[in-house]
This record gives sequence, structure tokens and C-alpha cells, in this order.
Amino acid sequence: MSLLLLVDLDGVVYRGDDPVPGVAAVLMARANAGDDVVYVTNNSMHYRADYVTRLTELGAPVTQDRVISAPRATALWLQEHHPEVRRVLAVGAGGLDRELRDVGIEVVNAGFAADRMGREGIDGVAAAGAPQAVVAGVDPQLTYLRIAAAADCIRGGARFIATNRDPVYPVERGLRPGAGSIVSAIEVASGVTPLVIGKPEPLLMEQAAHAVRRDPTEAIVIGDGIGTDLAAANAVGARTILMLTGVTSREALGAVPESDAPFAVAADAAELAAILERLAR
Ligand SMILES: [Mg+2]
Repeated sequence: MSLLLLVDLDGVVYRGDDPVPGVAAVLMARANAGDDVVYVTNNSMHYRADYVTRLTELGAPVTQDRVISAPRATALWLQEHHPEVRRVLAVGAGGLDRELRDVGIEVVNAGFAADRMGREGIDGVAAAGAPQAVVAGVDPQLTYLRIAAAADCIRGGARFIATNRDPVYPVERGLRPGAGSIVSAIEVASGVTPLVIGKPEPLLMEQAAHAVRRDPTEAIVIGDGIGTDLAAANAVGARTILMLTGVTSREALGAVPESDAPFAVAADAAELAAILERLAR
């Protein structure tokens, strides 16, 4: 039986601008051997095509339907579970709007709704055209009125969905507020707790397995985060190969209780390749 590999990106395939040596080649060899390779990322700002370009340059096996980012998983989940949602207020970057539009949802960007609120003196529900859902991720242009528009819609009955709740994300010179920071502002303003799609919740992993018509319990998650990748894998009953190429050190791993421990640990691409070869036998 071919393996189902759900592969995290930052800290596994690359680290910021730099590739993690050898990992793309290991994944290419596994894909050539017939394994399913699907990428899973909590990043809420980009469109799938951006990853296809980058991963292809690195020599990793990839097609558009095998990139399940938090925005893509959100769009697929809405399509599958809430087909009645036709219009969404999106608090986020361009990639989020595009992913939602790709599954046929009409997207009102929070920036547009906020402009109307300011100009026309109307509330967020009227400014956004009464959307059935509010989806929030990282919005680098977040303003007070965008939060107000989202909170108005949620208080008016729109479903509240978060791409993920990462508190921060790393950039070259430190940390920036993540989707979780923005989601929390809307949560406090609306009084409603969102449904969360991304890791450590199980829904992104489920959508990634479904993308290749397989069951998430068969998956091997390859990730570098204990509180994200490992937690999400455990939540869907998948095994994890924890990579020490990103945010987690061997010492930090010692603090994970036995019951939640990863299936295997790999310090580099060579160790990853050896573990996968054993599993595929
Ligand atoms: Mg990572």
C-alpha cells in the first residue's frame, strides 16, 4: 500500500527563504515510488499557485490539488459542510479571497466593507451585504473598522470561521502577529468563539487526506511543530514523523507525554528517507 504523506512546509521543506537540505529530493523519490504527497500549511495569506511555483523550484513533487493551506482547507470545508454559505466576509490577504472564490463563494473583503461603513455610515452587515459567514486569517491591512465589520456580521448571525489560531509567525527579524491575534480581536468584539480549521485542530488534515481520496488515519504527518503538526496528527489518529529541522529541539521533545509522542523523529533528510523506506516495506 502506498504511503499517504501530509507534509508541513516551513521548518520541514524550507526554513524561511532557505531549503532544508535534501527533503525535496526525498519527497520526489517517494512520489516516484507511488506515495501520495500532500502539503499542509497554516499560512493563511497565499494562494496555491504560489506554493506550486516555489516547491517546483526546490524539486519537490507538487500539483495545485496537493497543496492544502489553511485557506484552501477552509474553502473545501465550507463547500463540503455548508453549501448554503454563498457569501463570505473575508478578513485576510489576497490568497484567502482567491481560495474562497475558487469554490464558488462570493467574497466581500473586509477592507471593502470597512470603507463602506466609514463612507456611508452603515453597519457591517449592510456594508458586507449580509454574508452567511465570516472567515478570518492574517490580514496585514487590518483596521479598527475591519474588526467592526466582522463583529457586526457575526453578531448578526454569520458563522465565524478561523483559518487557524497561530498567535504569531516568524519573519526574518522576529515575530509578527498571526491569524490567532486577529481572530481573538474579532472573538472578543463579537462574543463568539470561532470554528478553527488549521492545525492543531483536525479539519485541515482531514481535508488534505480527502484531497487524494484517502482516510486521515492512514496518514503519516511530517512536521516540525509539537503543538501544531503533532497535535493535529494525533487528533485525526495519524502517525507523525517529527522533524528536528525547524522549531522543535530534541530537548523540547522530552516534555511530550508518552501517550502523545511522535511515531518517529528525524534530524535530517537522510533519517527521514530511512524511516519512510521502512514504513513502505
Ligand atoms: Mg512547520
